[in-house]
Amino acid sequence: MNESGRVVIVGGGILGTMHAVLARRHGYMVTQLEREPAGRGASVRNFGLVWVSGRRAGPELALALRARALWEEIAASAPGTGFRPAGSLTIAASEPELAVMRAAVALPDAKQREFELLTPDEVRSVNPALRGEFLGGLYCRADAIVEPRVALPALRAALAGPSYTWLPGREAVEVTANAVRDQRGDWHRGDLVVLCTGANFTGLAGPHLSAAGALAADQPPGAEPRGLRRVRLQMLQTLPLAERLTTALADGDSLRYYPAYDVPARTALPPQAAVAAASRAQLLLVQRLDGSLTIGDTHEYDEPFGFDVDETAYDHLLARASALLGVALPRVQRRWAGVYSEVVGTTALYHRSDVAPGVVLVTGPGGRGMTCSPAIAEETFL
Ligand SMILES: Cc1cc2nc3c(=O)[nH]c(=O)nc-3n(C[C@H](O)[C@H](O)[C@H](O)COP(=O)(O)OP(=O)(O)OC[C@H]3O[C@@H](n4cnc5c(N)ncnc54)[C@H](O)[C@@H]3O)c2cc1C
Repeated sequence: MNESGRVVIVGGGILGTMHAVLARRHGYMVTQLEREPAGRGASVRNFGLVWVSGRRAGPELALALRARALWEEIAASAPGTGFRPAGSLTIAASEPELAVMRAAVALPDAKQREFELLTPDEVRSVNPALRGEFLGGLYCRADAIVEPRVALPALRAALAGPSYTWLPGREAVEVTANAVRDQRGDWHRGDLVVLCTGANFTGLAGPHLSAAGALAADQPPGAEPRGLRRVRLQMLQTLPLAERLTTALADGDSLRYYPAYDVPARTALPPQAAVAAASRAQLLLVQRLDGSLTIGDTHEYDEPFGFDVDETAYDHLLARASALLGVALPRVQRRWAGVYSEVVGTTALYHRSDVAPGVVLVTGPGGRGMTCSPAIAEETFL
């Protein structure tokens, strides 16, 4: 690519939009296509957690830390993203959970994550809205929050100008060297075309992705599947809570799922409550700028996914959130599900492949895509 070149981006989610931001930083003209009127995929359905705390030590943590720094920089010229360095508190309700946290703060990378183990009183002085009963909390100052429902338009507004063309309602249906054709028959050509088509295993990207369910031909029998799989999550949002939460929140179940907490003490955690185990639930809670609470999540791996949402999992998550805050929650205002795709059976943190000369496919960042998107986009333009 030369510095007066053009980059064509397919996909208006956070990966596509961060590619637009980074391409403009490098001086390229940008055309971005989105098949919907605006992004409606995982990027607008998530918590908006820029989540450093749970990332696996090594390259995953490094990518998240780089992304955290980029988010802060980018948000300075796009304040509508709602970026705030609020940090997070993971709350321990039992001694074994506290033991995992003690081990996590003793790890060599605890400083990078800005981890601190807090007593119950210290937890309450950091986040006075926590009036429930608990034994302590893991404070991660490196974590941050953005507003997923408005971050994409805010980033596009910051890009607005003659060098950026946003084309909603355009579905890329054909790809060839350095170009894609949309459903109207218009060709969009660039020095580089980046496909950020999200959790779609059909359509344009489909032939270039291997589903994790089907073992690749070169894998021995019984090997762990590798490729991409999709994950479906349930979420909800309450009406505004009168009080301000100063941090994002997680419950002790999250210690079971995030790789950062893969310490020997984790094996001593008792089994999860049956209802949480059935939906692979962990409580994550983020207060939106209007005071409402985004609460989730669950994890479903077996396709075909349900088309409806399950109340049992919601009952569990709402009870957990209410117990941490020590108050009755405001009424639930909306519920939804979202799907992301993630790479499995590989050390890669996301999928990147060349699908034609001058055309690259970038997807599959899993549950860390909102966090890592700016750093993933940066890697495209290295
Ligand atoms: C419920 C939920 C909670 C999550 N919470 C977090 C979190 O708090 N923090 C975090 O880091 N990550 C989180 N994630 C993960 C994160 O949201 C995803 O990794 C990320 O949003 C993926 O971004 P994307 O741009 O690849 O996909 P998407 O947001 O799905 O965007 C892909 C876009 O491409 C468009 N498209 C597809 N095909 C075409 C085509 N042929 N032509 C034109 N347009 C096309 C689609 O319409 C879509 O808008 C969460 C995910 C979910 C589902």
